[in-house]
Amino acid sequence: MTGSFEVCLEQTEEHVHVWGDPAYELSLDRHTVTATRTCEDCDETETETAYVLNVFVSRPPTEDEYGELTYECDTFENPAFTQTTFTEDDISPLSEMDVLYMPEDLKVIEANAFENVTYCDAIIVPDGCETIAAGAFANCEYLYYVRLPKDCDVSPDAFEGCKGVHIYVE
Ligand SMILES: [Zn+2]
Repeated sequence: MTGSFEVCLEQTEEHVHVWGDPAYELSLDRHTVTATRTCEDCDETETETAYVLNVFVSRPPTEDEYGELTYECDTFENPAFTQTTFTEDDISPLSEMDVLYMPEDLKVIEANAFENVTYCDAIIVPDGCETIAAGAFANCEYLYYVRLPKDCDVSPDAFEGCKGVHIYVE
């Protein structure tokens, strides 16, 4: 009895996992990515979760079409898992958002001009705008998407306190 028990134990120790390819999943709240791999022989799994570190607008929304966000996760400690990006159509079409369109001839958005605004979730700033001052859109609670022109001088505090904002510079 003892002998056969030892043989069993040895076989267990000699098992070398045959890992399948890792699978990655972005959480529904978009805050984390979970990596999982499973041994094809014994069904043991390894899993690890990394935070999403970087989110950027990879395709802006149009009137009728969704915009795309890219989510980039942190590195994993397990070297079998690689840093991953996900793209999701997470920005609603402009026609489905409450959009604040700035006037075409606007050059400057003054400091704190739209602070604490809660009636819009998207803002479109036209190409002619040259300056967005400090706190211009500070603490706009529901602000989700902002389109800015390329050559605009934007204060680093312009969107302070806008926790869910995604800014696209065109
Ligand atoms: Zn195994």
